[in-house]
Amino acid sequence: MLMGKRKIAVVKVLGEACLHQKAKPVEKITEEIRGLGARLVEAMYKYDGVGLAATQIGVPLRMVALHVDLPKDASLPLSPGQRELCPKMPVVLVNPKIESLSSVTESFEEGCLSVPGVYAPVERPVSMVLTARLLDGPAFTLDCGGFLARAVQHELDHLEGIVFVQRVKSPFFEEILPELKKIIKKAGAKNYQIKRIV
Ligand SMILES: [Zn+2]
Repeated sequence: MLMGKRKIAVVKVLGEACLHQKAKPVEKITEEIRGLGARLVEAMYKYDGVGLAATQIGVPLRMVALHVDLPKDASLPLSPGQRELCPKMPVVLVNPKIESLSSVTESFEEGCLSVPGVYAPVERPVSMVLTARLLDGPAFTLDCGGFLARAVQHELDHLEGIVFVQRVKSPFFEEILPELKKIIKKAGAKNYQIKRIV
């Protein structure tokens, strides 16, 4: 089917209030919800991202688009989530929920379409149990590891109104702060304060 001359959704940037809104559950998968899923995937690719949450395009619903490939290193052990979800990418997770997080954490550099050009390390649990459903298909519960676990946690943070820079520890936070201020200024945000949660 032709997509028509639909406008690609605009990704909101740091400083815009909608990024700190808590998203509400999707009640029912309607045509509108499928349309939103398609818009998320479309915008994620257009902006060259690996994930995009509905809150990032100003829609406070619990939906995220993801495109996480299997690791290039084939010798790495795969989690059930990677085995099940990576071959299906792009996927749209509906009402994703973290059931549990591993106690083991690691630090890895992250970026975000809502904080363009800024990369900084974030410490996160290395694996997690995810419950969600796709636009087509029943609900599932899967143990996710590898980059998938990180991407899902980053996107689920968005649904809670959290942007990754709020989790960046010192001294990295101070290093990226001038860049963050530029983005916030460009967004036209006044009296905006980054509430760190580290
Ligand atoms: Zn993000």
